[in-house]
Amino acid sequence: MTKIADLQQELELSDTQLATILDEVSVRVAEGQKNLNQNETGRVRQFIKEQQRRAELKGQTIDLPPIIKVSDFATALELPVGEVLSVLLMNGVTATLNDDIDYDTAAIIAQELGYKTSESVEKLEEQVLSPEKLEEILNKEKKADQQERPPVVTIMGHVDHGKTTLLDSIRQANVAKQEAGGITQAISGYQVKYKDRLITFIDTPGHETFEFMRQRGASLADIAILVVAADDGVKPQTKEAVKHARAAKVPIIVAINKIDRAEANIDKVKTELAEQLDLQPEEWGGKTVVVPISALKNQGIDELLEMVLLTADIDKLTANPERAALGSVIESRLDKHLGPLATVLIHAGTLRVGDDVVVGHVSGHVRRLMDYLGKSVNEAGPSMPVAIVGLDAVPNAGEILQVVEAQAAARQKASQQRAPVKSMVQVRDDDDERQTLALVIKADTNGSVEALRETITAMVPEEVRLSIIRAEVGAVSDSDVLTAKAAGALIYAYNTPVGGMAKKLADKEQVEIKSSKVVYELSDDVRQEIEKRLPVDIVTTALGTLKVLKIFFSIQKRKIIGGEVAEGTIEKDAQAIVWRKTGKDRVEIGRGTITEMQREKKVIDKAEQGDQVGLTYEGKGKIKEGDVLEVYKEEKVRKELTA
Ligand code: GDP
Repeated sequence: MTKIADLQQELELSDTQLATILDEVSVRVAEGQKNLNQNETGRVRQFIKEQQRRAELKGQTIDLPPIIKVSDFATALELPVGEVLSVLLMNGVTATLNDDIDYDTAAIIAQELGYKTSESVEKLEEQVLSPEKLEEILNKEKKADQQERPPVVTIMGHVDHGKTTLLDSIRQANVAKQEAGGITQAISGYQVKYKDRLITFIDTPGHETFEFMRQRGASLADIAILVVAADDGVKPQTKEAVKHARAAKVPIIVAINKIDRAEANIDKVKTELAEQLDLQPEEWGGKTVVVPISALKNQGIDELLEMVLLTADIDKLTANPERAALGSVIESRLDKHLGPLATVLIHAGTLRVGDDVVVGHVSGHVRRLMDYLGKSVNEAGPSMPVAIVGLDAVPNAGEILQVVEAQAAARQKASQQRAPVKSMVQVRDDDDERQTLALVIKADTNGSVEALRETITAMVPEEVRLSIIRAEVGAVSDSDVLTAKAAGALIYAYNTPVGGMAKKLADKEQVEIKSSKVVYELSDDVRQEIEKRLPVDIVTTALGTLKVLKIFFSIQKRKIIGGEVAEGTIEKDAQAIVWRKTGKDRVEIGRGTITEMQREKKVIDKAEQGDQVGLTYEGKGKIKEGDVLEVYKEEKVRKELTA
């Protein structure tokens, strides 16, 4: 037994506090009751201890992993799991105590409960493979496990020399008719069977903006076919292509195309190849395979494929089909029905439906695999291009796919796209007084992302600093919002959804998301945002002068004076310089603003020459009778965006 009064004194509790605590721990105290039993006293003491511990915790920063089970999260906060679950629910997260939540979610919930958190840093970066690391891994593979794989071919060359036509004619001639069945190519790569051997063709977009992808195309390929039109010869992009292929150490086969044309001059092209690019044709004693073709008329295509196989045999292309699959993203987009969709070229191993994967900073669980005809397949082995459904977000072209343990995929999911946030160091020049337009761009396809990036970059004049924090394919995620928040950026979402959690977070963090399916709507908005950040010009207009006749009132910076407009006009809210005559000179006494004006006891906005007015002056200077106010208007004029 403990006396209630003693306990109250010991714990320094007021009557109300005591009553609340007794209520919390479900101890009923009857009228006139003086004592609590041991169990009841224990409950009160325990409660107070917990409260103190909580207060302590709230002062500290709690370390949380990138992903945490709800029950562990509650333990970390030393809170009953039910309380955590209900706060989660209030924030729109339906979870059970065994569910995993990611750090961002945990941090928001913890913050709501009054805790500070930080993310315990695991070495997640190690999960993300660089192309260099990939090459290292592939080179280290055991010889004994290696099996022959199809060659991967990319077609390069100057615009209009016939790359697309060649890709089409190879596909049409070598894909079984019933298979093709009128379906247009679903992904940017295909395989054909020639003489019972598979050849993979990678079809990267041809537009200039995709230069970077073509560059990547070459390094992913085993062989480059360089298309040169027989009627046009070596052109700037022909040279570029050769440069890329050589940099990637990929053998080049030249296809001299359009030989059906009357203007075709094969020998002239060969001379240009030899002289300008050091590609000496075999038939002239050099090492370069040159095949004259007509992609349009289907001439020379078989010879070209023959040469591809011969070249492949020289290099002995192999891979281990048994290992955990490794591949590179050739192209990616957000599909309306299928969600994030990535075309991946498998380098080694076999990718199967049901595999857990990490692709760059994106995780996923392979729900469906599709070949280039859009046909579902169960697996994809070395050199096969395949579309993957089941990724959590859209990865970037060039990122590496690896099959991982489920746990690793979950970790990656938690840290998804967070890595760029951390590395986002804004380099700022202190002398640079320009205002910044910081943006996060999200769009439905790589093409849109690049188009937006280019459009916006072209719009921003020199007077404004443009900082594109992130430009990616995919829906607007909470990570985008947090990134934008950290960088003070606006989010532009073109033809792509905004996630529910992201919307909520954006409201809470006051991050603006501008979403549209119409490009010009977004560019109009960008224009306005740019104009808001253009420097302002201050335009000064002289209005008139006022002779001070009387000082009615003066307190600190506020003076009420009477005077007569000597020349011009005087306006409310105009600026004034106070001048005083001393001998021959006049000196400036101070500067201020006319905040109010009256004439014949009526409030006015404007007074003309000869008017006698009373006015309120707010500003510096001890004004005296006889001083002159030189009144002028100052307007800030923001520059407008021309063009
Ligand atoms: P790309 O820009 O390199 O993909 O070139 P395209 O494949 O789009 O071809 C450009 C133009 O050249 C198209 O009008 C084709 O029809 C034409 N073309 C392509 N190959 C041949 C060919 O072998 N002979 C002729 N006469 N025209 C061709």
